[in-house]
Amino acid sequence: MNTCEQASRLTAYHDGEMSPDCRADFERHLGQCPQCAAELDRLRRLTALLGAARPAAIPAASLARLHRAVDLLPTTGIRRLAEALACVAAAILLVCMIGLARRSDAPAATASMPVWETQAVAQQQAVSATATSDVLLASWMVQDLSGRSEHD
Ligand SMILES: [Zn+2]
Repeated sequence: MNTCEQASRLTAYHDGEMSPDCRADFERHLGQCPQCAAELDRLRRLTALLGAARPAAIPAASLARLHRAVDLLPTTGIRRLAEALACVAAAILLVCMIGLARRSDAPAATASMPVWETQAVAQQQAVSATATSDVLLASWMVQDLSGRSEHD
């Protein structure tokens, strides 16, 4: 096992992923560190071995038998998965519909209203909320001013 602190840089050097400066620096280290030099030699031999290996050719008869077996695979697994996903989607849809129907903050009448009417109701509610806050602000200003006039 390589215990050198620089060992983590070996694969980057081996794969040519270092900048020229880093590469030169690591080559100086390789000249001084027998552990890294030996590890690099093992990496190079392994790479050469893997590069020389060729996958074994599959005989045509075996390949044809394999294709037939794949074609005969039952589709029940896929069908069962599709059915399960459809059930999950239906359950999610049902829960969402119940959740929307039970929303207490939405006015009940808006469900049957056309879109333009729903928008108009929402704007009217926003305007009335603004008017209320304006009235409150005005009353606070009056109270504040009357309080100051009492102090003065
Ligand atoms: Zn080293």
